[in-house]
Amino acid sequence: MSARVLLVDDLELNRKLLEAQLRREYYQVSSVASGLEALAAAKADQPDIILLDIMMPGMDGFEVCARLKADPATRHIPVVFVSALDERVDRLRGLELGADDFLTKPVDSAQLTARMRSLARLKIVTDELRLREAAGRQLGAIDGDPWRDNGLGARIVIVDDDTRRAAAIEAALGGQHLVVPVGRSAVSVGQARPDLILVTAAAAAFDGLRLIAGLRSSAASRNIPILALCDGDQPDAALRALDLGAHDVAYLPLDEDELAARVRTIVKRKRYVEAMRSFLDRGLEMAVTDQLTGLSNRRFLTTQLQGLVMRAARGGEPVSVILADIDHFKAINDTHGHDAGDEVLKALAARLSTSLRPADMACRFGGEEFVIIMPNTFADFAAMVAERLRRDVAAAPVAIGGGREIAVTASFGVAGVAAGDTAERLLKRADEALYRAKQAGRNRVVAEAA
Ligand code: GH3
Ligand code: MG
Ligand code: MG
Repeated sequence: MSARVLLVDDLELNRKLLEAQLRREYYQVSSVASGLEALAAAKADQPDIILLDIMMPGMDGFEVCARLKADPATRHIPVVFVSALDERVDRLRGLELGADDFLTKPVDSAQLTARMRSLARLKIVTDELRLREAAGRQLGAIDGDPWRDNGLGARIVIVDDDTRRAAAIEAALGGQHLVVPVGRSAVSVGQARPDLILVTAAAAAFDGLRLIAGLRSSAASRNIPILALCDGDQPDAALRALDLGAHDVAYLPLDEDELAARVRTIVKRKRYVEAMRSFLDRGLEMAVTDQLTGLSNRRFLTTQLQGLVMRAARGGEPVSVILADIDHFKAINDTHGHDAGDEVLKALAARLSTSLRPADMACRFGGEEFVIIMPNTFADFAAMVAERLRRDVAAAPVAIGGGREIAVTASFGVAGVAAGDTAERLLKRADEALYRAKQAGRNRVVAEAA
C-alpha cells in the first residue's frame, strides 16, 4: 500500500536517509526543513502521513504537532515523531500531543513501514468520509464539527491471561475510561461493543495474534480499533500485530502514561470516524425528507416510484398512487397567515400518514400537494383508501394554536399502473383525475377512467 509522506527534518542528511528508505518501499515522499514549511505543506498538500523531527531551529516538532492537531484542516493527518531523542519524557510529550507514534533514530526499516502501512489504512477510511463530508457540506445537508472529542470515557475491553498485568492496565486506564470485562473469544469481545480492544500479544495461554486476526475478520468487531501489547524484546510480534490490523502497539513492561496517551489518540480518531458516519447518515436522511412535514420529499418519491413502476412494467406487482391537494389553501394563507398555513400542512401530513399501511409511502409532492405511493395495490382499492383519507381530513378542523381552528378539505386523484407506464405518466393521470375532482366541486375523490 503506497501513501504520500511529508518528511520534516532540518538536517539534509537525515532527510536523504529517510527518503531513500521510504522510496524503496514505494512511498511518495516530499520533504521540508522547518516547522513553518511543514505547517504550510500539510495544509496545502494533505499528505497521508507526517514524519516529524523534534529538534529543529525556530519551531520545534512538538510545537508543529500541537499546531497540526489544533487546525481542522490538518488534525486528522497521522503524525509520527522520528527523533534522536529517546527519553521517556520526550516520548510521552509527543504522544500526549496526539502523535500516533514515536520512533527513535536510526529508524528500523521494518518497524517504520509496518507503522506506515497501518496508518495509511486508517487514513483511507478517513479520507473517504471527509470527501463525502465535504460534498454534504456543500449541499448544506450537514454542518457542525465532528471533532470535539477529548478521547476520554471510552468502553475498553482488555484481553489478557495475566491477571496482575490486566489489573495494572485497568489501573492505568480505569480512571479515564470504563473497562469492560469479557471472555477471550473474538465473538464475545465484539459483542461487548467496546470503543477499543486491548489484546496482549504476549499472552501465554492464548494466541493474541490469532485473536487479532479473528477480530479483524468478524463483522461485529471489524470497525473496533485494537491496541496490541507486545513484549519489548519481541519486535516481530509488534510488526505482525500491525500488519494483521492492530491500530497501535504498546510495549511491555507497561508504561502506564504512554498507554493512556496512545489510548486517547486511538479513541479520538475512532470517534471522529463515527461522528462523520452519523453526520453522513443524517445528511442522507435530510436529503430525502421534507423539512416542514417530516414526510419523504419529491426526490425520494420519484426514485421510489420509478423503481416500483419499472417492476410492475416487467410483470411484477401493481402499484397505485393517490395525489391529494388541499382545497382553497391560498385562502387559508390569506385569511390566517402563512404560519397558520404551515400548521395546516403539518396536520394534514400527519392525518394522511397515520392511517396508511406500513408499506405505503406518504410524500410531500410540493406546496399543498401530497402523493401516497401504494405498492402492490390496484387502483380500485387505492380509491377506497383515498375516500377514507378524504373523510379523515374533512372530519375535524385543524387546531392552529391560540384556540383557533381551521376547517380543511382536500381533493384526491387516483391512478394505477398500466402496461408500458412510467412514473411520470402514472402521476400525470393521477393529476388529471385530481383536476376533475376540483372541477366537480372539490372535497371528493376521482379515480382515473379505467
Ligand atoms: P385549489 O382548491 O384549486 O387547490 O386552490 P388552492 O388555493 O389550494 O391552490 P393554489 O395552487 O392556487 O394555491 C396554493 C397555495 O399554497 C399558494 C402557495 O402560496 C401556498 N403554499 C405553497 N407552499 C406552501 C407552504 O409551504 N406553506 C404555506 N403556508 N403555504 C404554501
Ligand atoms: Mg390546493
Ligand atoms: Mg395546488
